[in-house]
Formats: sequence, structure tokens, C-alpha cells
Amino acid sequence: MTDTTSQAGALPAPRIRLHDGHEIPQLGVGVYQVPPPDTAENVETALRIGYRHVDGAQMYENETGVGEGLRRSGVPREDVFLTSKLANGAHRPDDARAAFDRTLEQLGTDHVDLFLVHWPLPTRYDGDFLSTWRVLEELRDSGRARSIGVSNFQVEHLEVLARAGASMPVVNQVECHPYFLNDDVRSWCREHDVVVEAWSPIAQGGVLDDPVVRDVADALGRTPAQVVLRWHLQSGHVVFPKSVTPSRLEENGALFDFELDESQMARISDLDKGEDGRTGPNPDDFDYVG
Ligand code: NDP
Repeated sequence: MTDTTSQAGALPAPRIRLHDGHEIPQLGVGVYQVPPPDTAENVETALRIGYRHVDGAQMYENETGVGEGLRRSGVPREDVFLTSKLANGAHRPDDARAAFDRTLEQLGTDHVDLFLVHWPLPTRYDGDFLSTWRVLEELRDSGRARSIGVSNFQVEHLEVLARAGASMPVVNQVECHPYFLNDDVRSWCREHDVVVEAWSPIAQGGVLDDPVVRDVADALGRTPAQVVLRWHLQSGHVVFPKSVTPSRLEENGALFDFELDESQMARISDLDKGEDGRTGPNPDDFDYVG
């Protein structure tokens, strides 16, 4: 972890150093399920509040809006960390290259800061995500993707990359929240210096009524969402809660003037339900290609 950002108007989110030397703001906004016509305004609002990291994806079908929001905000491109992810239908190498070109065109930029394989799809493409990963290595080497990583990779998928002597992803973006800690994957990532990005960090709202979360929130005079997001930050995760509600974007950004103590951290971690807490698809058999 390094110093907080000092850009004018930016939230004081810490930046985490990735193993390739680049840095990522630990807090961003996600744009999954932000309707395409509303995306430019959503991103512009978030950037004006002080977010400097947007987590997008080809499959969200709103990359044009992300680019438009960035331009409208007036925040310089180099101050914003932009992530995109490869569409499931574009894993074959030539398709991946073409899809990446489209992403840059739609975002209106000459590079993304981070590009991810969105899902491993081990039951598709003859189980070959290695040749897809090799394309991401190419994109990184060309400088058009500053950093490359994966999403929804289980330990066995990460091991395939390791055994092949491929570059290690700088991040693995996986479902992670108090009801689903995803511990096997998190441990592997910790041991291999792969940063964990936690998707659905508040379980799409599903953890906010939990009595323990509420109790900690009351003790700290904070909202349940702030307490859960702060728990992620103190756990070392990168987070990008999504909201189309400006007051919630403000709320989710106000995380840097309080802390959970050790026992509050432990109480929230103890909410883990293992596999029963998973809310999204299981990457072992998820095979959606659009
Ligand atoms: P989140 O856990 O971020 O929850 C979003 C939901 O919670 C929305 O319904 C939002 O409502 C609501 N909400 C947001 N803030 C608050 C608050 N302060 N109080 C109460 N409710 C709140 O879920 P997501 O699934 O959107 O995950 C976040 C991001 O993670 C995505 O946008 C995407 O970038 C990424 N992601 C990646 C995946 C992957 O496969 N790699 C899969 C899923 C997500 P409203 O918008 O109406 O305000």
C-alpha cells in the first residue's frame, strides 16, 4: 500500500502496488447493470465526487457511456484508472484482439489501465483459456493494456497459468463479501502476490440488514454499506460498489475517516457461510457466452 492520492478533488483512497509496478486505487465504482443511456451521467457523477477508478466490461455494453462520462467530467484521462474485461464470446485469439480494439474505440482512449479475462469458461473452448491469456500478454506488451489480470478464476485455473510459466495476473476479481469470503482463492492470491478485487462487495445489498453489520454500524455511527466497504479495504481488497443513486455514491466514498477495530473486523469475517454464501454463478461450470 502506498500514499493516498493527492490529485485535486480526488477521494483519499489508498493505492495498491501491483506486482508489475503499476498502482491501482483501492476504491472505484462498478458499472455492471448501469443502463447504457445512464452510464455517462453515472460515471461523470462518480468522478466529480472524487472516484478515480471505473470497473467496466465489454459484456456490460456501456463502454461508450464510460468514455463519454470521463470526457464530460473534465478529469484528465491519466488521473483515472479504467478497467475492462473480455467478453465471454470473444475468447478465441483473433476475436479477443478485435474485441479489445472495439473497447478502446468505445472508451475513446488509447489504453486501458487493466484488462481482464472476465470468466475462465473451463467447459467452453475445449477448456483452453491459456491461449486467451496469451493474447492479454500481447496486449500488455503493446502498452495498450497497462496491466492484465483475470476474473472468476478458481485455484485450479490459476494453477494452469502458473504451470504454463505464463505471466501471473496482477489481480483476480472474484465474488467476495461477508457472506462469501472465497477463502481458498484469496489465500492462493495472497501467496502469489495477486491482488483480490471483490465483486458484489455488499452482495448487491444482501448483507446490509445483517444484525452484526448493523450493530457495528451503530457502534461507529456509520451506515451498514460503509462498514462493509471499510471491512474490505482493511482486508486488502480492491472494491468498486455500483450505484445509480448519487447520494449512495457519496456514502460509499466516505470511508477514510474511521476504522473497524480488530474485534469488529473479526465479527464481520465470521459471517462467512462458505459456498452457501455465494450469490453469483460458480466459475467451475458457468458457460454463458452471450
Ligand atoms: P454491489 O455489491 O456493488 O451492490 C450494488 C447494489 O447495491 C445496487 O442495487 C445498488 O443500488 C445497491 N447499493 C449501492 N450502494 C448502496 C448503499 N450505500 N446502500 C444501500 N444499497 C446500495 O454489486 P455489484 O454486483 O454491482 O458489484 C459491484 C461491481 O463489481 C459491478 O458493478 C462490477 O463492476 C463488478 N462485478 C464484476 C463481476 C465479475 O464477474 N467480474 C460480477 C459482478 C459484479 P442502486 O444502484 O439502485 O443505488
